[in-house]
Amino acid sequence: MSFTQHNKNGLVYDTADGLSAFGGIRHAFTTRLGGVSAAPCDSLNFSESCGDSTQNVLENYRRLGAAAELDMQRAVGCRQIHSDFVRFIRAEDAGKLLHDQRPYDADAMLTDVPGLPLVAYSADCCTILLYDPTCRCVGAIHAGWRGTASGIALKALVAMMSAYGADPMTIHAAIGPSIGACCFETDGDVPSAIRAELSASADRFITKRENGKYHVDLKQVNRLWLLRGGLDPRNVEVHPDCTACHGERYWSHRRMGSARGSQIAVISLVP
Ligand SMILES: [Zn+2]
Repeated sequence: MSFTQHNKNGLVYDTADGLSAFGGIRHAFTTRLGGVSAAPCDSLNFSESCGDSTQNVLENYRRLGAAAELDMQRAVGCRQIHSDFVRFIRAEDAGKLLHDQRPYDADAMLTDVPGLPLVAYSADCCTILLYDPTCRCVGAIHAGWRGTASGIALKALVAMMSAYGADPMTIHAAIGPSIGACCFETDGDVPSAIRAELSASADRFITKRENGKYHVDLKQVNRLWLLRGGLDPRNVEVHPDCTACHGERYWSHRRMGSARGSQIAVISLVP
C-alpha cells in the first residue's frame, strides 16, 4: 500500500491507497500546486493567516472540492492550538470553517455523519486521517511535536472506539506529508517530551547529532502511538515525503517561516 498522486487541471493532491481501497469516503492530502493565491502563498493555500485574501482561499477550497469530489461548503475545521483535545463533529457543525469562525480549539476531530469534510491544517506538522469502514466513522488529526509527544493520535483513536464502536482491527490510518527526521532538528525538549510518554520505545526515532541537536521522526512516533492503540501495522500508511525537503511541492514552516501557505488533510464519509 502507498499513496497515489492526482492531478486535476493542475491541482495536485495525494490519496492513501489503504483508505481508498474500501470506498465510502473521499479524502485528500493537498500540496501547494494548483491554486489561485499569489506569492508568498502561491498557489494552493487554505489559510488566511499568511495574509492571503478570503476570495483566494475560498476559490482554492472550491477547486479542491471540485477536484476531489468533496463538498467543502460543509467542511469543518478547528482552531488548532497544539493540544491533545479531540472534538466530536455533529451535523449542525456543517460549514463551520468557510462560513463561521472555526468554533473549537482542538487538534483532532471525529465524526460518523456523512458529508462533513473534516479539515486539518499543516505546514510541516503531521496530519493523520482515520477511517473505520466497518462502523463508518472518520477522523482528522493535526499533530505537531507537542501533539505528537502527548499522544493525540492514540487519544483520537480511543475516542473513536468509545464513541462509535470503532474496532482497531478494522481502522485504517494514513499519516500525510510532514517534516522528516532529515530536517526536524530540535533541542532536548522535544526528545524529553516524547520519552516522558513513550519511554525507550521511541528511541529508535530520535537521533542525537555531533552538534548536540536531535533529529526526530514525528511521523514514525505517531505511527507508534497508533500501533499502541491496536492498529494492524499493515493498516497504517506513512507518506514518504518531507515537506521541508520539497519546498516546490509543499508548504514548510521550517523552510519558509511565516510567509507561506498551509496545506490540508481532509476526509469525509460519502453521503
Ligand atoms: Zn527533509
